[in-house]
Amino acid sequence: NSRLTYRGRFAPSPTGPLHAGSLVAALASWLDARAHGGQWLVRIEDVDTPRCVPGADQTILQQLAACGLHPDEPPVWQSQRGTLYQQALDPLVAVGLAYPCACSRKDIEQALAAQGSGKPRHGELVYPGTCRHGLHGKAGRAWRLRTDSASNPLQATANTTLAAPETIATGNTLLRWTDRRLGSQSQDVEREVGDFVLKRADGLWAYQLAVVVDDAAQGISDVVRGEDLADNTARQVVLQRALGLPTPRYLHTPLVLGLNGEKLSKQNGAQALDTATPQAALQALHHAARMLELPPVPASTSAGDCLAQWTEAWRSVQAP
Ligand code: GLU
Repeated sequence: NSRLTYRGRFAPSPTGPLHAGSLVAALASWLDARAHGGQWLVRIEDVDTPRCVPGADQTILQQLAACGLHPDEPPVWQSQRGTLYQQALDPLVAVGLAYPCACSRKDIEQALAAQGSGKPRHGELVYPGTCRHGLHGKAGRAWRLRTDSASNPLQATANTTLAAPETIATGNTLLRWTDRRLGSQSQDVEREVGDFVLKRADGLWAYQLAVVVDDAAQGISDVVRGEDLADNTARQVVLQRALGLPTPRYLHTPLVLGLNGEKLSKQNGAQALDTATPQAALQALHHAARMLELPPVPASTSAGDCLAQWTEAWRSVQAP
C-alpha cells in the first residue's frame, strides 16, 4: 500500500537560490507526498563542488520554509555521503560491471570521429567503450558502468522483479519505463549514452551514482522532479538493476520557460525566487501552482490553506 510506504524527496543542487522553475518541482514533490499521506525529504546534492555556491544550501532551505514546505526529516548533504557511494562502486568493480577509464574528452571525440559517428545527442558524447577491455598501460582517471546488459551477471535475476527490458532483434536492450505524467518512455542506454561515468576523473562522485544510491538508501518510493531530468531516468534504472536496488516511480513536472522560450535555469540567469516576505512567498507559490494546473485559490488565502486545497486537488488527480 503506497500510503504506508510513500517517501518522496526534493533534491536541489546548491548552485544558487531556488528560482520559479525549481519551486514547481519542490511544490509538486511536496504535494505528491502529502496527497499520498507520505513523507517528504530534502537532499542537498552538493557532489559537484566546483558548481556549488557557498551558502546556497541554507538559502534554499530558508526559501522552502518560507513557502511552508518543511521536510519531515533533517536534510542530508551528499558531500557527507562519500562512504556510501564507495560502498556501491566497490562491488560493481569486483564483478567487472564498473571499470576504470583513461579517456579525456579529446580521446573520446577522436575515437568517435574514427568510427564516423555523427553528432551526439544533447551535446553529450556517447562513450565508444575504449577502456572497456583494459587501460592498455594508461592511468585510470574515471570509473564507468558497463551498459551492455549481456555482461551483467546480476541482471538476469533483477529482471524477474522489475519491468524487463525488451530485447529487440539486434540484440540491443531497449530500456522501457513509465513516467506518471509523460507515459511510456524508452532509451537504449548502451547505444544512446554508452558506458557512463560513476566517479569522475577529478575524483568527484557523478550525479547518476549519488542519486541512485541515495534514493535507495532513503527508501524513496516516488521521484518527482523537473522534466529536464527525465533523460537521466533510463541510466538510473540501469544502475539500480546493476546494484540490485528497487526502481522508484517517476513523475517529471512541466518546465517553466523564460521569456526567451528557454527553460529557466540557474545557468541561464533565472531570477532567484523572492521569499523575503510572506506575501512574496505566497505569490511564488501561486505561480508554481498555476504551472502545475492546480485550481486558483483566492489571493487572501493563507499559504497553509492554499497548500491544503492544492493537496486535495492533487490527490483527486494523482492519488487514486
Ligand atoms: N540535483 C538535481 C538538480 O538540482 C536534481 C536531482 C533529482 O531530482 O534527481 O538538478
